[in-house]
Amino acid sequence: MPSSDLNTLKKILELEARKGYTDTAVIGGLDKFIAIWASKKKIARLVRLSKGEYTKKSLPKKKKWINDVLDLLNTNARITFEKGGSRKPSELNSQSINAGDNKTYDLGSLITELPRVSTRMSNKLKKLGIYTIKDLLYLLPRRHNDYSNLCKIAELRIDMEQTVMVNIWDIREVLLGGRHKAAEAIVGDDSGNIRVVWFNQPYLARSLKTGDRIVLSGKVGKFNNALVFESPEHEILRQEGELIHTGRMVPVYPSTEGIVPRTFRTLIKETLDKYAQLLEDPYTEKLRQSVGLIDLTTAITQYHYPNNEDEKESARYRLAFDELFMIQLYVLTKRHEWGNANSSVSLQTDHNVTRALIKYLPFDLTKAQSRSLGEILSDMNCEKPMSRLLQGDVGSGKTAVALIALLSTVHSGYQGALMAPTEILVQQHFHSISTILERIGEVEPHGHWLKFHTPEFEDPILVGMLTSGLKNSQKKEINLMMADGHLNIVIGTHALVQNYVDLPLLALAIVDEQHRFGVMQRTSLRNKGKSPHLLVMSATPIPRSLALTLYGDLDLSVLDELPPGRQQVITKHIDPSRRNATYDFIRKQVLEGRQAFVVCPLIEESEALQTRAATTEFEKLSEEIFPELALGLLHGRMSSRDKIRIMDDFKMGIIDILVSTPVVEVGIDNPNATVILIEGSDRFGLAQLHQFRGRVGRGEHSSYCILMSDYPSSEARERLTIMEKFSDGFALAEEDLRFRGPGDFFGTRQSGLPDLRIAKLSDQDILALARQEAISLIEHDPGLTNPENKQLAKSLLRFSDFSEGGVS
Ligand code: ADP
Ligand code: MG
Repeated sequence: MPSSDLNTLKKILELEARKGYTDTAVIGGLDKFIAIWASKKKIARLVRLSKGEYTKKSLPKKKKWINDVLDLLNTNARITFEKGGSRKPSELNSQSINAGDNKTYDLGSLITELPRVSTRMSNKLKKLGIYTIKDLLYLLPRRHNDYSNLCKIAELRIDMEQTVMVNIWDIREVLLGGRHKAAEAIVGDDSGNIRVVWFNQPYLARSLKTGDRIVLSGKVGKFNNALVFESPEHEILRQEGELIHTGRMVPVYPSTEGIVPRTFRTLIKETLDKYAQLLEDPYTEKLRQSVGLIDLTTAITQYHYPNNEDEKESARYRLAFDELFMIQLYVLTKRHEWGNANSSVSLQTDHNVTRALIKYLPFDLTKAQSRSLGEILSDMNCEKPMSRLLQGDVGSGKTAVALIALLSTVHSGYQGALMAPTEILVQQHFHSISTILERIGEVEPHGHWLKFHTPEFEDPILVGMLTSGLKNSQKKEINLMMADGHLNIVIGTHALVQNYVDLPLLALAIVDEQHRFGVMQRTSLRNKGKSPHLLVMSATPIPRSLALTLYGDLDLSVLDELPPGRQQVITKHIDPSRRNATYDFIRKQVLEGRQAFVVCPLIEESEALQTRAATTEFEKLSEEIFPELALGLLHGRMSSRDKIRIMDDFKMGIIDILVSTPVVEVGIDNPNATVILIEGSDRFGLAQLHQFRGRVGRGEHSSYCILMSDYPSSEARERLTIMEKFSDGFALAEEDLRFRGPGDFFGTRQSGLPDLRIAKLSDQDILALARQEAISLIEHDPGLTNPENKQLAKSLLRFSDFSEGGVS
């Protein structure tokens, strides 16, 4: 078969991969396509696919099949093909292993095929995103219990990570501060006893029993002059001597309900022993040596089962490098593509129009807003695509800047898009933009879109909204309006970056609260239209080095002043014993006509638990504490319609107090809200607390942020004190960097880095190295076409696939 045909097939399969295995690469479907080809080219025999087989496959199977065929095509495909190979693609993979049960496995094999994995177990693993053997190898332990270094209760020291092996003497559910459920236990060994408290995990009082022998790892704090183990990790030892790995560092995997840690460990250990050797190292020997990296197989094996801290560190170093290097490579290749191949539209904005539009805003722009807007507009006048970050503390007025830039774009005859991380925010932006437009001209509302006339524009302007919560017919309508270029401005969630979304005239793409998107999600809007100018907005101050990492190259505009008349939010850490006084305070505010937020604690494991906690809190507050007031409940599991209704009611003052899971964190704007009570505040990072605090103090009234927490650890207490002391986000960030290094302020989620499982943001040296190596690689081999970089190119393709297709 001629190689050009192979190339076509390869391209189609790659497209299918990029499209998220949705069987949309070929009109009419892949199966049909292959069937047609088969009659001519015998290709169906090669890929062993009969009619209807692809469409029917599950997503992971589609993914595996495509990847297998691609592997095949990428390696010595032609030779194999010409020999008329009729074996299964996976058998043709260069590396596979006979597991002794007469079946052959490779890294892409599904775990369901492994004899040890039951359907039940594989369903649980799926929840962790684990489908293949390779996924399993990369299911890295969160930490290790160092059983080679057990200590006795009598030896425990405050504020250090320590591990003890103990008996449970007593365990029960308790109410802390009279309302927060926790599990409390007394445990002991031959040197003494100690109290253990698991905050917000009352269910442990049922799963652990008096008499159980357990291992506890974590930090010890002091409360009322006695030592307390604070929410330690635990593992039950069912039988004496059960620890197969006693006396060594034992991996602790993410807890999955229903899989006993031991079973998990055994499965992964076996998988490692058999399959880690199949991992192909994408780096050349030269690169590895110059950076000082151990090889991939060793790194993975050693990361699971290090013999000591040094081994763990060298494994971590290697895998952290992998993560940061991939991002670098991605960002740099993208930049290469944009920079070279594409030039943007040079938008000749009309200063008079801009000035006129600004005049219509309900306020004067701050100096910082005018300056940033000037920088943005002048970038957009150039053909070089803009890459700009607009950084401004919570409440600094980024939306107004965005709106003027969007309207200027429309005035030049192009489309503009604004992407926000949640439906609530999209709705809010749409709403506030309509309000502003109503001041400029005449607005004709059509629900999820509006038509707007003004003398400044010859034609009416159409502004629409696209979220996954819309009805299908509405989505279709918006999609059509976008595709034929009629919709001038679209505001949407990440639904906007989906493949079928067509914005032919897109010239300005704005990403709000960019830290909530993955790296790829926020840059993939770039693939629409005519390589649009890109503006990302964030309240999180990002250090320069990090900005370089995330965007390759990026210009910065900073809103370093707040609009005039802003009230500083008075922040107080309050002891639960003063809960009633706090409620009285909130009641008083409401009676004065103000409104309040109550944010429920963060429960990491599950959205369901979080929802339950918020619901319980809501019931309690509305029935027992504030029966005379109007309360509303907001959580992530509500339908988007309900969410929007609640937000509207809150904004219109129908709801006095909004009880919410931590979803209120970003962007919500209600100038009449003056109190935010944050429950379990010790469980949030500084950046997140600061975001919460930004929900109040947005109007003319004095505002308050109340940080409630039951038993904060000493570290958490310090964090809360910092919150009391600093009101400015940038100062806060600096403070925190000074105390703890970058890792803590930018939790992974806050920084928007993709799935950084191993690298920490404090890994500045690895970051610099990864960047340097990536730059030099791209300089020498921009398309990664050298044979020695083949493996790397493949990894990169998978990385971008995954990241661009993956929606969080
Ligand atoms: P953020 O930067 O956090 O996204 P927003 O754009 O939501 O902030 O603006 C916060 C509030 O400040 C909004 O109510 C907005 O109308 C108002 N605002 C924005 N710019 C100004 C200004 N120059 N003067 C007065 N109020 C402003
Ligand atoms: Mg905002």
